[in-house]
Order: sequence, then structure tokens, then C-alpha cells
Amino acid sequence: MSYFETRRRPGRHFLQIPGPSNTPDRVLRAMDNPTMDHRGPDFGQRAGRLLEKLRLVFRTRRPVVVYPASGTGAWEAALVNTCSPGDRVLMVETGWFAHLWRELAGRLGLEPEIIATDWRRGAEPGPLEERLRADKGHAIKAVCVVHSETSTGCITPIAEIRRAIDAAGHPALLLVDTISGLGSADYRHDEWGVDVTVAGSQKGLMLPPGLSFNAISEKALKASETARLPRSYWDWRPMLAANAQGFFPSTPATNLLYALDAAVDMLLEEGLDAVFARHHRHGEAARRAVRHWGLEIQCAVPAHESPVLTAVRLPEGHSADSLRALILDRFNMSLGAGLGRLADRVFRIGHLGDFGDLQLVGTLGGVEMGLALAGVPHRPGGVQAAMAYLAGNA
Ligand SMILES: *Cc1c(COP(=O)(O)O)cnc(C)c1O
Repeated sequence: MSYFETRRRPGRHFLQIPGPSNTPDRVLRAMDNPTMDHRGPDFGQRAGRLLEKLRLVFRTRRPVVVYPASGTGAWEAALVNTCSPGDRVLMVETGWFAHLWRELAGRLGLEPEIIATDWRRGAEPGPLEERLRADKGHAIKAVCVVHSETSTGCITPIAEIRRAIDAAGHPALLLVDTISGLGSADYRHDEWGVDVTVAGSQKGLMLPPGLSFNAISEKALKASETARLPRSYWDWRPMLAANAQGFFPSTPATNLLYALDAAVDMLLEEGLDAVFARHHRHGEAARRAVRHWGLEIQCAVPAHESPVLTAVRLPEGHSADSLRALILDRFNMSLGAGLGRLADRVFRIGHLGDFGDLQLVGTLGGVEMGLALAGVPHRPGGVQAAMAYLAGNA
């Protein structure tokens, strides 16, 4: 039985929400080691090596800082280190997580300006470029976009956003949330000219919740020298100074760092490109199942379809939450809820993290049985469609 279960359920629970994802046994075993002195020489050496290695996952040569916090903390860190009270930040509301980041920015005393979307696509470069071109006085301090919008299953092509900012000749910083994209969808901090990357531990990185990250460009670091929002815990400066010796200004989440060390090794052993290809393939297989069922995928732009998760719309008059409750009760599988305006309208299938073909087939099998039991109109055979794709595309 797992820790929170109230009744004995044979077999393994399927945790198919789009984060937290399943934690591989190797990562769990790594955590299960004695906590060490975080100011001792052994720790400094180990953490120093880990912080170097971690840069590879972000595809950056620059520092990555690690906070004992959920992803929300790293959102705040990205803003308080680069912005000043009243600064205008341009944000694209791609879904619920972009919405939450905007609210956070407002509470910090920034002036968020929103480009709205229908929550069925990633951020598009056109409207962004147009808005930046109109900002002749360069009042906009930062552009904030979500790379993998976990509420909708849409990806924003970050390289296109970078090109839009450059085409407008605008000096704004580019802040990117890839909390669910890191370690699951292709991501390149340096190559794409991202200034601050925000990430978290419990999604593509295959760790339990509890760590979050900022990767920091030279330009962002420079901005942090004059930024005037109050900051203390999130301040990059003492963190970077201590990190240079492999240490932290306050107590790090020691055992989660053991886990991170193991998870980064696993990603690098598989190879990042192979990791992305695996997720891409699972995304394609999941969408083939959904299309076969005759259900609608929330993401309406093929180029923005996500390798991380698939959000599925239910026909009018059917409750996504009832379907999820039934699947949990009957098949011991957790699926993601619809968030914000998508509550009860969509359910989300996570296919990220430590995940293989047979886990996907089992996941889709649970969904298909659930659709039948809940009386949701669909064409049976979606699992077969996914299997045919998986078998034919090694
Ligand atoms: C999960 C998630 C968050 C929130 O992270 P927490 O760890 O819950 O604080 C923010 N943005 C995206 C895109 C996410 O997937």
C-alpha cells in the first residue's frame, strides 16, 4: 500500500497526472541515504559537481541556482531578481499557469500586461512582436512565457519568441517557465537566448516535489544588480557566491539533491535527445488514441502539440471530473484535472518523466475503459491505434 491509501489496492497505482510524475526507484534509493553535513567538505565537492552537471540539462554554460521550493518559488525568484516596483512585464496567458504567474507578478507590485489567447495554443510571436514594436520607450522590462503550458497541453516555440523580441529590437528580458518541460520537451537556455529559465523538480526531472531552479543569463545577472524589488531568500547573489564553493547560504534540501544527482545521471545516460524523442513519440501515440476515440484535443495548433501531456475535451454534457473519479476508483489511476476555465471540461493525461511504452498502453487502456463505463460517446479501439503506432515506430 502506498502511504496515503486508505484501502488495500493490489498492483501499482498509475500516477498519470502531468506532475508530480512517477519517481523511478533509482531516484528513491538515492534519497534513502544519510543526511550529511551541508557545510562539510564532502558535501561541497558533491554539490559542486552536481551544479556543474545540472547545466547540461538546461543546455546552458551559465549558473543554475536551486531552491528548496516548489516551482512557484522559482517564478517569484525570476521576477524579484530582475525587476523593480512598477515595472511593466508582458505576459502571454496561454492557460492556467500563465494566469497564476501573472497574478504573482501583480502581487509583487509589477504591472503585468497580458496578451490573451484561447488557451488552445502556445504563445505566438506575431502579437508579441507587434506589442514590443509599439513600446517605443522600452517601458516593458520583461517578456514572460510558459514553454510547456501544463493546463492545456500546448508548447510555446521559445526560439520563435526570441526572434520576435529581436525583430522588434526590444531590450526586454525573456523569462521562461519550463517547469513541466525541462527533461521532457526539447529546451535550450543558451541557444534560445533565454534570460531566466524557471523549472521544478517533480515533472520531467522525475523527482518528488520540493526543488525549483533558475538558470540565469549574463544579461539577467546584470539586471539583478540594479533591480529594486525587495528580495532576501530568493536573492541570487548570496546563492551564487556560496554555490561557487559548492555550498548554499541556508540549508539545502540535502536528500533531494541526492535525488537530483541520480535523476540528472539518468537523463544524461539516456541522452537528452533520446529523452525528448521518447516523449515526442508518446505524445503522438496518445493523440492517435484520442483522435480514434473521436474526442477533441485541447491543443488546436498541431505545431504546439505537447510531448508532455495530452488534455482531452469531453463532449458537452459530460463531466471530466466524474470520469476521472470513476477511473481512479475502478482502475487505480490518477489523471490530471481541468484547471481554471477548463475545470470539469478536460482531463489531462500525463506522459512525462520515467515512462515507457507499456505504461502508456496501460494508461490509455484505463482511459478507454473509463470512457465506456462513464457512457462518454467514443469509438472503441483508441488503444489499438496507439499500439499500432508504438509497434511501428521504434
Ligand atoms: C506545475 C507547474 C507550475 C507550478 O509549480 P508548483 O511546483 O506547483 O509550484 C507552474 N507552471 C507550470 C507550467 C507547471 O507545470
